[in-house]
Amino acid sequence: MIQRDDHGGIAVLTLSNPPVNALGAGLRAALDAGLAEALADATVRAVVIAAEGKLFVGGADISEFGKPPQSPILPEILARIDGASKPIVAAINGAALGGGLELALACHARLAAPGAKLGLPEINLGLIPGAGGTQRLPRLIGPTAAFAMMLTGEPVGAGKAAELGVVDEVELGDLREAARTHARELADAGRLPRARDRDERLTPEERETFEAKAAEALKRDPQATNVAALVRAVRGAFDKPFDEAVAAERDEFRALVDDPRSRALRHAFFAEREAAKVPGLPKDTPRREIARAAVIGAGTMGGGIAMCFANAGIPVTVIETEQGALGQGLDRVRGLYAGSAKRGSITEEERDARINRITGAVGLAHAAEADIVVEAAFEEMGVKRAIFSELDRVAKPGAILATNTSYLDVNAIAAVTSRPQDVLGMHFFSPANVMRLVEVVRADRTAPEVLATALDLGRRLNKLPVAVGVCFGFVGNRMLEKRSKAGERLLLEGALPHEIDAAVTEFGFRMGPFAMGDLAGLDIGWRSRKDFGGRAPVADALAEMGRYGQKTGRGFYVYADGARTGTRDPEVEALIARTAEAHGIARRSFTADEIVARLMYPMVNEGARILEEGIAARPGDIDTIWINGYNWPAWRGGPMHWADTVGLDRIAADLTRFAAETGDESLTPAPLLQRLAAEGGRFGDPRAKA
Ligand code: NAD
Repeated sequence: MIQRDDHGGIAVLTLSNPPVNALGAGLRAALDAGLAEALADATVRAVVIAAEGKLFVGGADISEFGKPPQSPILPEILARIDGASKPIVAAINGAALGGGLELALACHARLAAPGAKLGLPEINLGLIPGAGGTQRLPRLIGPTAAFAMMLTGEPVGAGKAAELGVVDEVELGDLREAARTHARELADAGRLPRARDRDERLTPEERETFEAKAAEALKRDPQATNVAALVRAVRGAFDKPFDEAVAAERDEFRALVDDPRSRALRHAFFAEREAAKVPGLPKDTPRREIARAAVIGAGTMGGGIAMCFANAGIPVTVIETEQGALGQGLDRVRGLYAGSAKRGSITEEERDARINRITGAVGLAHAAEADIVVEAAFEEMGVKRAIFSELDRVAKPGAILATNTSYLDVNAIAAVTSRPQDVLGMHFFSPANVMRLVEVVRADRTAPEVLATALDLGRRLNKLPVAVGVCFGFVGNRMLEKRSKAGERLLLEGALPHEIDAAVTEFGFRMGPFAMGDLAGLDIGWRSRKDFGGRAPVADALAEMGRYGQKTGRGFYVYADGARTGTRDPEVEALIARTAEAHGIARRSFTADEIVARLMYPMVNEGARILEEGIAARPGDIDTIWINGYNWPAWRGGPMHWADTVGLDRIAADLTRFAAETGDESLTPAPLLQRLAAEGGRFGDPRAKA
């Protein structure tokens, strides 16, 4: 894991732990031993720490979090560097993240290659740096800049890092040679510059600037335990002696490792990575080449999906039934690109290049050249069948035929073609050019290579593809439907829209279901219920009154003069009361906790059924879908992880009670939930397999 090469008294220790040089127990032990040996070796005057591969060090091995620490832990290695009487220089060839940057910060100098990226992303896992990062970085670059870097977790490029003072130099030539020269110069000069020794007192202005930024961050996210810990740690860098402050940082870090928020965020991180592996789909499954795409429909979704292809450099033809709709759709896409260029998120050249990759056409015959066709026309089985029959005639052999349907049966769509093996669902989320999630729907006859190609393509489009099976609404919308139904029921039983929305935003969603419905348009759900059956007495009544939400100025709330946040409407509340009476439902008040239970437990129950039916391969896939497609708060880890933290016995007992109280059989706990509840189990246990 460590290779040592000596050059004229300079020992170069090269780290190698593919794929990302994570600082796991093995690499730590090798590095510690390598350092001890080199420092004790009388022929060695200085040491360079370099790395093999694309990265310097990608970070800690986070699978070790929560397990008993295995010596040597990183702080012990850094203490060895602190105690060294010979200079140690970091040669940062690529990304130095988390523990990797902390290692570099402890060295006596840092040289970076131009493509290197440096960052402390621990905040994203609910943690803070735990190996002196919160102490050395502020000492090197000042508290405000250091705090900003650790608060966003966003890595900075080598140039920016040099400007800030994180690295001493950006080396355009041979990095290792430059690092050896630098190390030799330090040894010649007898200098051992250490970040820990820099003890510059802050001016009152600097202190004030930092405190203002800290207060802002705490206000933005008052519940984020790690933000508060980060503020305390950075303050410590200026109020406490180094060793004391590092010990305090370590205590904060350890406490955060056990914090439920961090556990949930780490679960979400692992679940996302695991979702890339689809059981029964071997890694070496052949792929088909995708060089050209076609999208059917230039509506809300079609336009956004076409942008995803164009953004990834894949030429795409957008197909409509007539010139008018096509022109409108393409105009909207151009408008979105113009906006991005104006905001500076893409250059004008990039804007033009992307727009030029999108060609408009009328008639499905224009899909003939595409390697993949994504259909995003109206949500009607008749329309989809007609399109897929035609595609079967015109598409080239081997082309992948995907539908973006939200609810329809992908098997039935595939069945109208003579090539069901090439058909699957690619369910993008709105706005498709922004949302990361894509449910990749594997139909009964989808060929493994078609599924593998679609999953790869999803990643190429910079999305997060998750494989799911065929059922009404797949994973996300199927569970959402349970929440919507529970929301309507709650209205009739006495909770008001603003109370329900408040409980849901307090839980951590950015928007409550009724504000969301008003934003999306109440006509959408109403039409879909008309098509698929199902009633939502209050929402349907509102839609029938022409109250479609924000776009009509009225929905569950009233929107004065195009306002984006609504206010309560006595008319709606009277309508709810009348509807409840008509249904013979007695009204009472609900606490926020009761509201959350009423809304979320039925979703968890449906998640259990989805697992039993094999629609999702694992609970983590469901969590990944909800976090990335429906804005479920990541710090609650997704519905299935959250259910585990609540306790499945409690959820099963409450659902049994809800079923009895409402007479709704579908609320009866699913067999998997019942079994786990009885065993004291969790969805997250390996034995939870359905
Ligand atoms: P939309 O009404 O905005 O766009 C549909 C477009 O398809 C229209 O421009 C229409 O002219 C065009 N079209 C209809 N028949 C066609 C045909 N035979 N050939 C070519 N073009 C045709 O609808 P949308 O919201 O973009 O939804 C499209 C699909 O995506 C639906 O299946 C929907 O369920 C699904 N979907 C929508 C969302 C969403 O939030 N809007 C999210 C995920 C999936």
